Amino acid sequence: MVVVMSPGARPEEVDAVVERVQAAGGSAFISRGVHRTIVGLVGDVVAFQGLNLRAMPGVGEVVRVSKPYKLVSRENHPDASTVTVGAHGDVHIGPDSFVLIAGPCAVETAEQTFEAAQMAKDAGATMLRGGAYKPRTSPYAFQGLGLAGLKILAEARERTGLPVVTEVVHPADVPQVAEYADMLQIGTRNMQNFPLLQAVGAVRKPVMLKRGLSATYEEWLMAAEYIAQRGNLDIVLCERGIRTFETATRNTLDVSAVPMVHALSHLPVVVDPSHSAGKRELVVPLARAAIAVGADAVMVDVHADPTAALCDGPQALYGDALAELAAACRDFPPLLGRSVAGISG
Ligand code: PEP
Ligand code: MN
Repeated sequence: MVVVMSPGARPEEVDAVVERVQAAGGSAFISRGVHRTIVGLVGDVVAFQGLNLRAMPGVGEVVRVSKPYKLVSRENHPDASTVTVGAHGDVHIGPDSFVLIAGPCAVETAEQTFEAAQMAKDAGATMLRGGAYKPRTSPYAFQGLGLAGLKILAEARERTGLPVVTEVVHPADVPQVAEYADMLQIGTRNMQNFPLLQAVGAVRKPVMLKRGLSATYEEWLMAAEYIAQRGNLDIVLCERGIRTFETATRNTLDVSAVPMVHALSHLPVVVDPSHSAGKRELVVPLARAAIAVGADAVMVDVHADPTAALCDGPQALYGDALAELAAACRDFPPLLGRSVAGISG
């Protein structure tokens, strides 16, 4: 942290800052410039924040130099992390591989889920997605099958061998969802549901944390810090589009998020082009963009009959587009030095 004194600050005002910092157990280093004096602080930033330095006479500005998140920051963890998913440690999401995650937006019936899971498997995806608890904008929309949906997902995993990622929307449901799923998803609408973040932080299952609709990178990483702070560092971040003034797409895929968040954090970054675009014809082009900017995985919605889907049918891929996407997931990542261990076939 750096305290920038106002031009013309008096020496006793600088001394008062130094004394207050030292009294809080910190060290202060003074640099005197021609016009301004700067005091560099070394010690506990959280303790310094409680000192109200900004309000002291002669203080112009207090600038934070280190990041407010610690456990998920690159500053303290220079190597990119790999998160391992599945009972047999079968899927690795991280810098060395590229993973394709596919499945239905929602678990509607056993048959529909098994069909979509088979589509994912046939295309070469190595993880299955699907929502049993659906956070819907309308209370009248299909809310998901709950526990029955989790059981269907577990059966789909049995049949295909694909580990499952599924959303949890309530802290009380976390133990139950963790029992059935291989990875817990925190959806966009819950990115800052702090009790939920703490609850998934307390279980021993990896977590996919989707970016909030209007969340900054710092807010997103602070949300991840809530999970990490409870002891769970197996976190992957998911960029799924943000809300902008544009209405032609459901959301705007922020491709900058991938390299930017990779620079700020050691956590892997997944891109969900389906929820970004809201239109199936954009999903494959956006997935290609995600690969090009260095995403560690893409996650897409698929459905055997999107016209009958109870949730997000317009963005669900048919089998042919999924095959096209899988081909891009096999061909492009090696050009960037990645293996394609997360795509089979
Ligand atoms: C989902 O992945 O099913 C979902 C609801 O996504 P989001 O939270 O990104 O809207
Ligand atoms: Mn959806």
